[in-house]
Amino acid sequence: MQETEQAVAEAARLLRQARSVVVFSGAGISAESGIPTFRDSGGWWERFPVEQFGTWTGLLALARDRPRELAEYLVTRLRPVAEARPNPSHRAVRDMERFCRVTVVTQNIDGLHTEAGSSRVVEIHGSLLRVVWVVDRTVKAHLSRQELKAIVDKLGELCQTGRPSFRRLLLALQPIFGVGWRGLYRPDVVLFGDAMVEPEWTHALHAVRSCQVIVSVGTSGQVFPAAMLPMEAKRQGAAWIHVDPQEPAGDIWIKGRAGEILPLLVNKAWPA
Ligand code: NAD
Repeated sequence: MQETEQAVAEAARLLRQARSVVVFSGAGISAESGIPTFRDSGGWWERFPVEQFGTWTGLLALARDRPRELAEYLVTRLRPVAEARPNPSHRAVRDMERFCRVTVVTQNIDGLHTEAGSSRVVEIHGSLLRVVWVVDRTVKAHLSRQELKAIVDKLGELCQTGRPSFRRLLLALQPIFGVGWRGLYRPDVVLFGDAMVEPEWTHALHAVRSCQVIVSVGTSGQVFPAAMLPMEAKRQGAAWIHVDPQEPAGDIWIKGRAGEILPLLVNKAWPA
């Protein structure tokens, strides 16, 4: 406890002196919004092997050969995002903007930083709430959580009542995946093996290279190249604060849940 208090006090001191801060978030920041992390969901990739469920070719093969399994996976994956709301940690990150320049660089695809009101959000792995044309990644549609939920409900019904054939699965997914007047469209997310999206990746590099403090939150640092960003910030002289209940990292590790630690940190750095 005393250790946590000391770490928070030291981190607050660094934040107070910084003009420019990067908050680098991972799945753990959204855990308290009800979205499971890969780490916490009990061997996620053992249940859903990454070659099949984490790549576009794997997903397409599943849609054709085992549509029920894919529909069940999508319901498991998409429902928590469709039902999520920002939690106190997303709001604390937004509040930091009152005191310094904050760029949020997030690995998450859940749109919760933007919904909480952060104004500079760089989504390096894209967003589930955006549909793009594959040909040039221009935006075809923005999706509300309500619309995502409607898709999840359809997929759920398909699993329970019908036989989710390839054709029925594609019909249910039509708002986010299909062929239109500009060719194929799909959710704007980066899967395993995909190149990082631009200009987001360049913006992220620029932000970490010009910040004085980087605060990483809820990330196990195992997904590359994203995991290199805090090291890149450090190489340019920034201090690295890390918030996570399990995973030690950074110059200062504040051990704890994001929803508890981030509001505490912001209050300590800039008392009302
Ligand atoms: P990860 O699952 O590998 O690690 C999650 C980390 O969050 C762990 O270190 C865990 O200790 C920590 N954590 C758990 N609960 C926490 C809490 N309440 N507060 C703070 N930390 C907490 O996640 P990753 O490093 O982000 O890598 C997985 C990849 O999959 C990333 O691209 C990630 O964004 C993506 N993903 C995204 C979402 C989402 O959009 N919400 C959800 C799952 C995975």
